Amino acid sequence: MAYLGEGTTKLGFGLMRLPRLEDGSIDIPQVSQMVDEFLAAGGTYFDTAWAYGGSEEAIRQALVERHPRDGYTLATKNAAWLGPKDADEAKAQLEVSLERSGAGYFDYYLLHNLGAGRTAFFDRWGLWDWALEMRRQGKIRHLGFSFHDNAETLDRILAAHADDTEFVQLQINYADWEDGSVQSRRCWEVARSYDKPIVIMEPVKGGMLAAPPAPVEQILRAEEPDRSPVEWALRFAMNTEGLIACLSGMSSIEQMRDNLATLRRLSPLSEAELATLAAARERLAELIAVPCTGCHYCMEDCPVDMPISGIMESLNRAALYGDEKGKGNYGFATREGTKASDCIQCGQCEAACPQHIDIINQLEVAAGKFE
Ligand code: SF4
Ligand code: SF4
Repeated sequence: MAYLGEGTTKLGFGLMRLPRLEDGSIDIPQVSQMVDEFLAAGGTYFDTAWAYGGSEEAIRQALVERHPRDGYTLATKNAAWLGPKDADEAKAQLEVSLERSGAGYFDYYLLHNLGAGRTAFFDRWGLWDWALEMRRQGKIRHLGFSFHDNAETLDRILAAHADDTEFVQLQINYADWEDGSVQSRRCWEVARSYDKPIVIMEPVKGGMLAAPPAPVEQILRAEEPDRSPVEWALRFAMNTEGLIACLSGMSSIEQMRDNLATLRRLSPLSEAELATLAAARERLAELIAVPCTGCHYCMEDCPVDMPISGIMESLNRAALYGDEKGKGNYGFATREGTKASDCIQCGQCEAACPQHIDIINQLEVAAGKFE
């Protein structure tokens, strides 16, 4: 790896989990303040998606209507596998995204979450050729895709679309670097073997690496007492060669300021520090029960409205912090009525999960543990 050393300018503002008010609406004044501080720090890359409820409208109000269009880059994504019945409905997502955001064009347009059964939707409906035509028409500037599957599958997709793809968005963090399912390192190697630059997602693994369990934090603090866990995680991600941007899904102005402060003092990782992160990775793998990132893709079409991500989080809390914590979390996650034991085992959630989690088995574990 080669350190790029561009600190705050390589941070990408992930717009998936924006701050919300008590009535559930997005807190536009706070998002506007976050946008302003992000731009002032040299950040330029904003990442939304057709599938992120309310996010494209929020970015219109907080960014597009308040800043010159050439002062930032905006990415959004097409989720052909998430609801459309045919090619026309899938293609219509771009017009919806343009209308919601008011951006005029997208600097980066991604086919969202390729891998497993999701890839076929884009091929079957001719979305690659359509996206290239949209690029010729100027509605998008750069075409790429985000990806959740193994390195072999990534290689197959890139071999078929090497000329169409300008960049790839990958899940990269120190915990998943050698993970057998996510295969961060191997996926990065495949993408770079095709000379594709990288956008990183999940650098703190859905927040877990910002507050890792005590045995993992002890390993990091023993090496450098004053360096926070989130700084370790961001340094690892930023150390990745070929980086366009490293996305952080920021949910408050405080998180934004913490991230910017961390990146201002960013420094390359030494061999000793990489070894420390490898030790932290191994300890975390021993402790964690379920590698859920809380993305919610599994929950879109569940016939019983199972709160899957909350239940997976309960299992992790039990494993990391004790059964009592897990049980409390489970009670909160299932407060609207559906319990883990209500699963009818239809399997659609497992097909949608980018982390390949055996959700049905895990729900049985949760029912046995918490009900
Ligand atoms: S297997 Fe269970 S949790 Fe998954 S979608 Fe079906 S009913 Fe919902
Ligand atoms: S179980 Fe999988 S799809 Fe569902 S929230 Fe967790 S990581 Fe996302």
